[in-house]
Amino acid sequence: MKNLLIVLSGPSGVGKGTIIKKLLAKGGYALSVSCTTRAMRAGETEGKSYFFISKEQFENMIKENGFLEYSNHFENYYGTPRKFVEEQLESRDVILEIEVDGALKVKQAYPEALLIMVLPPDENELRNRLKKRGTESPEKIEERIKRTDYELSKKSEYDYTVTNGELNGCVALIENILKKEKEAKKHD
Ligand code: 5GP
Repeated sequence: MKNLLIVLSGPSGVGKGTIIKKLLAKGGYALSVSCTTRAMRAGETEGKSYFFISKEQFENMIKENGFLEYSNHFENYYGTPRKFVEEQLESRDVILEIEVDGALKVKQAYPEALLIMVLPPDENELRNRLKKRGTESPEKIEERIKRTDYELSKKSEYDYTVTNGELNGCVALIENILKKEKEAKKHD
């Protein structure tokens, strides 16, 4: 396989979405759209942000082996549809934006997957970013901040970590990693 399966993780609010938008704007990547059982937030679009499905639909897809990986966090299921990723990988690099448990499952199934974790410059900055998003209650925000500690505790299992201090710099760093990895694959 000459194409990259890129898994981007990092705590909520670290800016993964913006980074991915910038990467997609450069072209050549397919972004996997996950399924989730959580409620749609303001500003989200069905089929673009997520496929918003019921718990029953999700569990049926699990039974049918329809997920490359899935996990249950924040009281909801989140999963990567297998078919889309496998089809796209035939012709393009594919980006998954998923949390650590899912990412490590992908690595087990596809050891060639490239795991990149985006880190916040500091935790207070992250707290501010999360609060600014304004889509969650204070309790939910706290829950997500606790989850941050867990996610960060897994960073040594990632192939790369990049700090999102300055957006364009961070995107450039990721692009360099991808270029290098792509080159290495050519010689496999
Ligand atoms: P949110 O509810 O803020 O959209 O996402 C919460 C977390 O779920 C984020 O860390 C996001 O990366 C993760 N996530 C989104 N889609 C998937 C998926 O398909 N699988 C897994 N394991 N995590 C996902």
